[in-house]
Amino acid sequence: MVRLRARLARSQNALGRGLLELLSRDHLDDEVWDEIEETLITADVGVGPTRAIVEELRTRVKVLGSRTPEEARALLRELLLAQVGPDMDRTLHVTPHGERPAVVLVVGVNGTGKTTTTGKLARALIGDGKQVLLGAADTFRAAAADQLQTWGDRVGAEVVRKDEGADPASVAFDAVARGIEKKVDVVIVDTAGRLHTKTGLMDELGKVKRVIEKKATVDEVLLVLDATTGQNGMRQAQVFAEVVNITGIALTKLDGTAKGGIVISVQRELGVPVKLVGLGEGPDDLAPFDPEVFVDAILG
Ligand code: GDP
Repeated sequence: MVRLRARLARSQNALGRGLLELLSRDHLDDEVWDEIEETLITADVGVGPTRAIVEELRTRVKVLGSRTPEEARALLRELLLAQVGPDMDRTLHVTPHGERPAVVLVVGVNGTGKTTTTGKLARALIGDGKQVLLGAADTFRAAAADQLQTWGDRVGAEVVRKDEGADPASVAFDAVARGIEKKVDVVIVDTAGRLHTKTGLMDELGKVKRVIEKKATVDEVLLVLDATTGQNGMRQAQVFAEVVNITGIALTKLDGTAKGGIVISVQRELGVPVKLVGLGEGPDDLAPFDPEVFVDAILG
């Protein structure tokens, strides 16, 4: 996996630099506080967390009086870190259960990076010495299974697929059955991300999950969210969270946006930890999310 800090620093520095510059000024009048607030909102930190950070900053600055750049940085680091959820459990559950593989279900809207994340995750797990099998349960787009096949070939994972239009649940079932037969450690199932209707989505994902549970347990339901889509992406994420029990978030395309604050808002909105971050299109551009590294990258 790529070095999270170096990659993040490139895209997130603008947020930290802006905040540090503002907070280092001698005189913090209302205009400066408004600017600090705006900087946080612009970075998708979300209204609630922004208010909490600004309020606490105001109190602390009053006590501190004039501050050195180092003190300003330490203060920001502490308050940002508190919002990023340093104590959330970010363990990725990929340990097999005896003869049965662990199953990871990857869900999210089309275009967010589901298939890419599935491929990258397979690569990382294989790198850790695990045997991985992929299930192409997005049967609605002809290209989806081909794309997953390309990833499977690239990273060395068998792909279970069916023709376009096949029942996604039957692909998931076959993938898990094949995974048990091959004694793999992890089966990752890439699902369709059509946001047609909420009940349609619920039926579809519910059936995929139920069918898998005839043979194994679903250990992780990873919601893939595109960091560049901001509040719109959050709304879509919310729909998924309402229809299926999300256990972790994979936040993609953090390399292409300075809006890393979405980590804070999405965890708060969904109550689920960001476990993985996507930092590019390549096979190694996936990293486990680390709150301290993230905040340090923001602050440069
Ligand atoms: P899906 O429809 O959700 O399966 O999305 P895809 O996996 O096909 O990804 C959509 C596009 O986003 C592709 O061009 C990917 O290469 C790109 N992509 C996925 N993850 C990342 C990421 O972390 N960073 C960048 N820059 N691009 C990404």
